[in-house]
Amino acid sequence: MIRLLGLFLMLAAAPAFAGTLELSAPIEQGALVRGQTDPGAKVMLDGKALRVAPDGHFIFGLPRNAPAHAVLDVTFADGGGTRRDLAVVARTYDIQRIDGLPENQVTPDPETFGRVLHDIAMIKTAHAVDSDRLDFETPFLWPVLGPISGVFGSQRILDGEPRAPHLGTDIAAPPSTPVKAPAPGTVTLAEPDFVLDGGTLVIDHGYGLSTLYIHLSKIAVRKGDRVAQGQVIGAVGATGRATGPNLHWGVYWYGTALDPMLVAGPMPPAKN
Ligand SMILES: [Zn+2]
Repeated sequence: MIRLLGLFLMLAAAPAFAGTLELSAPIEQGALVRGQTDPGAKVMLDGKALRVAPDGHFIFGLPRNAPAHAVLDVTFADGGGTRRDLAVVARTYDIQRIDGLPENQVTPDPETFGRVLHDIAMIKTAHAVDSDRLDFETPFLWPVLGPISGVFGSQRILDGEPRAPHLGTDIAAPPSTPVKAPAPGTVTLAEPDFVLDGGTLVIDHGYGLSTLYIHLSKIAVRKGDRVAQGQVIGAVGATGRATGPNLHWGVYWYGTALDPMLVAGPMPPAKN
């Protein structure tokens, strides 16, 4: 009885924050943040509930233009909790202003335009998949090794008109170079012939994390396939609207595009 009372007093005197909360770095615009807390804890980001895996892992993404602050609230299974104010580091993106261009905009015919909208909607649907697979916990590998020919966040402003920012990483590689799954997952979209993107794949890694591959010359998997980390999923091409053979690689947390270079880390040297 006395021992029980002592335990009760100890619990009552314990600080409100009795559980674990660890977050990966960097906390910056475009980053995928990996968190670890106690199993059974509830996590809210800016008032919205995040999925927490049975082992306490969770993830969230910070968009290209994420505000400077975010608030993470964690409630542990014992009722205690903690609040973490996150300072989100702002990034400088490669913005090119080009003025005085000749008017060479081509208006697509209604049929092509309709197909483009359909393609976009299909990719959006794939990014919205919210599965409970734990593949997201596997650290990512690069799907292709090669020179980076396009970076996340870059944008062109033509005659004062901002164009859509570039929301992935382009890796230049010879045509037919195998593209490998950076982490295990499930194929949620496999289309050989999108108008702008050409051969297109989306892989779901669970908990809202998905990856996008476009301009592929070959697709080696089908929708619904399970893929292992490192498995060949397709080949580099220049299909769709591409300036040359490259892999456009995108990483998404639900609909939010993240910077693949921050997710995969520094690229290892290519083996010859
Ligand atoms: Zn690209």
